[in-house]
Amino acid sequence: MRPEWAKARRIVVKIGSALLVDNEAGVLRAAWLDALCDDIAELRKRGKEVILVSSGAIALGRNLLGVPKGPLKLEDSQASAAVGQIHLAHAYESAFRARGLVAAQVLVTLGDTEERRRYLNARSTISTLLKRGAVPVVNENDTVATNEIRYGDNDRLAARVASMVSADCLVLLSDVDGLYTAPPGSGADAKRLDVVPEITAEIEAMAGDVGSELSRGGMVTKIEAAKIAVQAGTNMVIASGKVTNPLSVFAEAGICTWFLAHSDPVTARKRWIGGTLEPRGAVFVDPGAAAALGSGKSLLPAGVTHIEGYFERGDAVVIRSAGGTEIGRGLIAYGHADAAAIIGRKSREIAGILGYLGRPELIHRDDMTLRRTGS
Ligand code: GLU
Repeated sequence: MRPEWAKARRIVVKIGSALLVDNEAGVLRAAWLDALCDDIAELRKRGKEVILVSSGAIALGRNLLGVPKGPLKLEDSQASAAVGQIHLAHAYESAFRARGLVAAQVLVTLGDTEERRRYLNARSTISTLLKRGAVPVVNENDTVATNEIRYGDNDRLAARVASMVSADCLVLLSDVDGLYTAPPGSGADAKRLDVVPEITAEIEAMAGDVGSELSRGGMVTKIEAAKIAVQAGTNMVIASGKVTNPLSVFAEAGICTWFLAHSDPVTARKRWIGGTLEPRGAVFVDPGAAAALGSGKSLLPAGVTHIEGYFERGDAVVIRSAGGTEIGRGLIAYGHADAAAIIGRKSREIAGILGYLGRPELIHRDDMTLRRTGS
């Protein structure tokens, strides 16, 4: 068993439609799903947090709606998803309940993982579910998403979710067991790669389109997913889901392809907050708060003397000392107007001032990166 798997604490597992839904009959492969849930229950027993990203809504729903086989029009896939998602949610709910676990349905759109305000919400909702022991089952909100804001494939959606929740490992279960040196069926003598340490142009060239009729995501989207994952510090693995108990099988047999991240998710996220995002404003903190930040605490409204800029909730802001020196950067939990109203006040006063129960921290320590002082 590779250390990337043995050590992973927070794991995202993506399940392709072709595994969950019988292509011919268009019905759920219930025995396979039960075995998968056994694997997940086992991981949970070992103290791991598991998030599922499950496809299958469209494949299930089209059969129930009587949509003929063949390529789907957008409105047909959205209508099919509306029908199929209920069945999917029901199947997960009962399979997890039978194993003493609580399933949670999370439907997201591209905007939820890429737009800053919603990103913070989705991240903290999923973290709360995990903390309380539930198994989040994520899918794209296919029914309402318009073409421009659709992922369309759950490989990249899963990678965005993995990066959003700072997962240690992303497992893509599909009908392929890894990345081959040449696309299957190309006639070349193709070998499966065990490990991809770097996604080079040569690696990208190996991705042919190996998707089956049911799964939209071929190898091309899996490589795109790998790029998103490793950038976020998440190791990614492509493994076959065609066997029963696919998670135990791949972990033991090692027939899969690993894409290795170069840093851990926390470091990658801090780099993203500190370097990639354009700051929209600044918060000035008093010396007491500056010292608290230095010892690893979150920034509370009480320690802030004034703010600058027109930022929204989830935007990056610079944290400055009273004298104006940059101390760090972070994602702020309140927009500028609300932030202006609560600075200098105790967190327990927030609800009274704003009229809603907001977060106690202005910037949570997980959403913050501090500058090295050099001392
Ligand atoms: N969200 C789609 C569904 O549930 C699947 C997209 C994919 O398979 O990548 O049917």
